[in-house]
Amino acid sequence: MRYYSLNRQSETVDFRAATIAGQAPDGGLYFPETIPRFPAGFVEQLPNLEPAEVAYMVLAPYVGEAIPEAELRRICAETVNFPFPLVPVAERISALELFHGPTLAFKDVGARFMSRCLGYFSRNETQPVTVLVATSGDTGGAVASGFLGVPGVEVVILYPSGRVSPVQEQQLTALGQNVTALEVRGNFDDCQRLVKHAFRDQELMSQRRFTSANSINVARWLPQQVYYCYAVAQALAQTNEPPVVAVPSGNFGNLCAGLLAYVSGLPVGHFVAACNANAVVPAYLTSGQYAARPAVATLSNAMDVGDPSNFGRILEMFRHEYPAIRELLSGYSVTDQETTATIRRVHQQTGYVLDPHGAVAYFALEHYLRRHPETHGLLLETAHPVKFPEAVEAATGQTVPVPAELQSLMQQPKQSILLEPEYEALRAFLER
Ligand SMILES: *Cc1c(COP(=O)(O)O)cnc(C)c1O
Repeated sequence: MRYYSLNRQSETVDFRAATIAGQAPDGGLYFPETIPRFPAGFVEQLPNLEPAEVAYMVLAPYVGEAIPEAELRRICAETVNFPFPLVPVAERISALELFHGPTLAFKDVGARFMSRCLGYFSRNETQPVTVLVATSGDTGGAVASGFLGVPGVEVVILYPSGRVSPVQEQQLTALGQNVTALEVRGNFDDCQRLVKHAFRDQELMSQRRFTSANSINVARWLPQQVYYCYAVAQALAQTNEPPVVAVPSGNFGNLCAGLLAYVSGLPVGHFVAACNANAVVPAYLTSGQYAARPAVATLSNAMDVGDPSNFGRILEMFRHEYPAIRELLSGYSVTDQETTATIRRVHQQTGYVLDPHGAVAYFALEHYLRRHPETHGLLLETAHPVKFPEAVEAATGQTVPVPAELQSLMQQPKQSILLEPEYEALRAFLER
């Protein structure tokens, strides 16, 4: 498989080069030259296939010759080694729980796959590669955990001191091994500025090998297709109708992966793009006009994105044909009040505890199903509610217990290095 840049000013590359580079030299996102169809009988077989086998079958055409079969099978097995249950919540609504991985968020899937691919590509390098990331909370934890213990890879994470939740901070600082947390005396923008500065510092870049674990990397984007297959397999076991799928969206990598699986042959009735107040894609779906806007802060803060990078991939997939996109995808913008009210109401009526991101999707899905009474749907629950305890406790009036998997991590000592928000401080650390 070859990948081209959506800006069309760079050469095509294979999966290996696309994964190592992250972004094309012309600044564009990489996109596969062809979208493979799933093999004949794949959908019928789905309920009987092992999750790792599904992952291998979906991803092998995209990886091509870049990773040998046995190695890719091992990577797939390690990527999806936790459950993806479809849990009934209300009549006609189920939640696909994507939070049973090590950092309790769906980003574990992409991060685990990418980290193992990069580990494989660096296996013969004598010099370790340093993954440098800035995080506002969720991404950094998934990346750190994904790379934990991967030989030949060092991870340096910058996070804003005092601005991540207790669970998130433990996930960044208590891992040890090849993961170092830099606690920046500043905000997320400071962290991002320092990282961008480092990547522009040619002298530093020539001394050591660096990579960014960017969310637009094809190795993070493509594996997200596999849990749509698990969802549909579980839904079809109950009824023959392809489900409506609602996706809480920010940068639109997750939804875009679902659309890719659909184009490859996965039966989905309709997609719902569920956004918070940052609603440029719902606005596009209504008007046909795309206009980026500055992001505004909301309760579902992992979706506070004003110019989603994966929107270009969605346009490309449908050859920029607005009517085709419109037919398959509806968009909703959900307010913080509606989000809180949804967490409260669903908890009262069903006992199910949504996180703010899942609640946005739940609200949007209900809205769609009301107008399509013959359908049933599922939402992707992208994070465990314990990651956003303030919003959830304010809505339900109850504390969210820390899940057993996390108890031992919560007991580990926090280890971080305090850093002034100045580039010289970061550079001195990286050159140590
Ligand atoms: C990152 C994130 C999202 C948004 O996913 P995109 O692929 O950027 O659209 C939604 N929910 C949670 C919990 C996230 O961490």
